[in-house]
Amino acid sequence: MKLVELVMSVKPVMSNSDDELKDNNRDEEVVEPESSFLQSSKANQYRTGTHDFENRLHKFNMTFLRALAKPILPAGYWAKNRYTRHDEQTPINLTFDDGPDPTTTKELLVVLDDEKVKGTFFFIGENIRRYPELVEAVHKAGHTIGNHSMTHAFLPRLNTKAVEKEIDQTNQLITEIVGVSPTLFRAPFGILDKRCAEILKERRMSTVYWGAMADDFRPIGDEAVVSRIMKQIPGNELVVLHEGHHASQCISSTREIIRRSKELGFTFEPIQ
Ligand SMILES: [Zn+2]
Repeated sequence: MKLVELVMSVKPVMSNSDDELKDNNRDEEVVEPESSFLQSSKANQYRTGTHDFENRLHKFNMTFLRALAKPILPAGYWAKNRYTRHDEQTPINLTFDDGPDPTTTKELLVVLDDEKVKGTFFFIGENIRRYPELVEAVHKAGHTIGNHSMTHAFLPRLNTKAVEKEIDQTNQLITEIVGVSPTLFRAPFGILDKRCAEILKERRMSTVYWGAMADDFRPIGDEAVVSRIMKQIPGNELVVLHEGHHASQCISSTREIIRRSKELGFTFEPIQ
C-alpha cells in the first residue's frame, strides 16, 4: 500500500504554478471573450512544452499504478477490452465521482443530454442527503447510479462495522430516492481490501475500479484534463472524472472528451 501512495504522490518535476501562469498572462494582449474551454486552452498555450511533459509523465504514472494495483486489489471491473477484433472499439464508460454537487451535476446532465451519452455517477451518501433532487434528476435522465461510500473514508483503515455502515447507509439513501438499491460500488481513493470485497459480495454488489484518470480534483486546466484522459483511453476505457472540485473544468472537459472520443469513433455506455 505504501508503494501505491508513493506513486500517487509523484509530482511532475517541471510543474508551473498557477501564479506563474497568471504572471505570464498579465502582459499578454487582449483575450477575446470565448468559451471557457477556449480561454483555458489559450492559457495553456503558454506552458505547452512543460504541460505536454507533465501529461506524458502522468500517463506513465497511471500505467505504473494500474499495473501495480491490479494484481493486489480484489477482483472488480477494470474495463478490459471486451472485443478481440481490432476493428471494434470498446465503448467508453464515463464515470463521475464525488457528487451529487450543485455546481456540476445539473450541467453535466445538460452536456450528456446534448451529446446523447449515458454515464455512471458514483455518489457520496453525505452529498445525497444534501441534494436528493440531483440524484433523482440523474436517475430520471437514465444514467446509472453507484455507491461511493457515505463519508468518502479510506475503507481499509475502518473496522468492519464502519465499512458496512458506509455502504449500507448510502445504499439506503439511494434506494429511498430511486426505488432500487445500487449494484455498483467504487471505493473512495479507488482502493479496498479483501474484507471490503466480502462485504460487497454479501450485498451482491460489484466493485468498479478506474482506468483513465487526470488528477482533475486539482485545477490543472481543461486542456490538461482532456489531454491526459485522451492519452490513456485506448485500453483504459473506464474514464474517471470528479464532480464538485472545479466545476467549469469538470463540465468543459467532459464535453470535450466526448467530442474528441466521438471523432475517434468511440461510443459510450453506462456501466450496468
Ligand atoms: Zn471519490
